[in-house]
Amino acid sequence: MIQPVFLVGARGCGKTTIGRALAETLGYSFADTDSHLLTSTGKSVAEIVSTEGWSGFRTRESLALKQVTAASTVVARLDASPEEAQRPTLTGKSVIDEIVDVLAAREELYRQTARHIIDATRSPDRVVESVIRVLQMSDVNSAI
Ligand code: ADP
Ligand code: MG
Repeated sequence: MIQPVFLVGARGCGKTTIGRALAETLGYSFADTDSHLLTSTGKSVAEIVSTEGWSGFRTRESLALKQVTAASTVVARLDASPEEAQRPTLTGKSVIDEIVDVLAAREELYRQTARHIIDATRSPDRVVESVIRVLQMSDVNSAI
């Protein structure tokens, strides 16, 4: 059975890049909650945050995730923090200052959420290979 694959991680960690390449390699479709929001609301993340605040954005992001997964989407990317240029920082600090705080606060949550943790510091091709390897390993294990 084809299972959806969700990529979760902080801003800039490579979810869009890897998600798109992974989907292409596996022949899956690719959905992006940021793109979905832009298409469905006609607003960028920055616009939504400025008018509705972060809580309003998170509500819309959760809804977008449900919508993209409901539409028989097989690879979806949950973007915990989308495109830098489109999204204001959470606190008003610089992106660099903020990412240190945000990562520290979120790391445990990401770890609890993750079924597999991928080293995304290598080239996109290598990262895609790693994802496919762990998916194959977990398929084998779940079949036993
Ligand atoms: P996210 O969707 O998680 O915010 P992106 O996929 O937009 O992250 O990637 C952020 C930036 O990092 C982009 O400029 C992208 O080209 C680059 N990038 C992503 N993955 C890698 C990688 N494995 N190696 C080098 N650069 C990468
Ligand atoms: Mg992205």
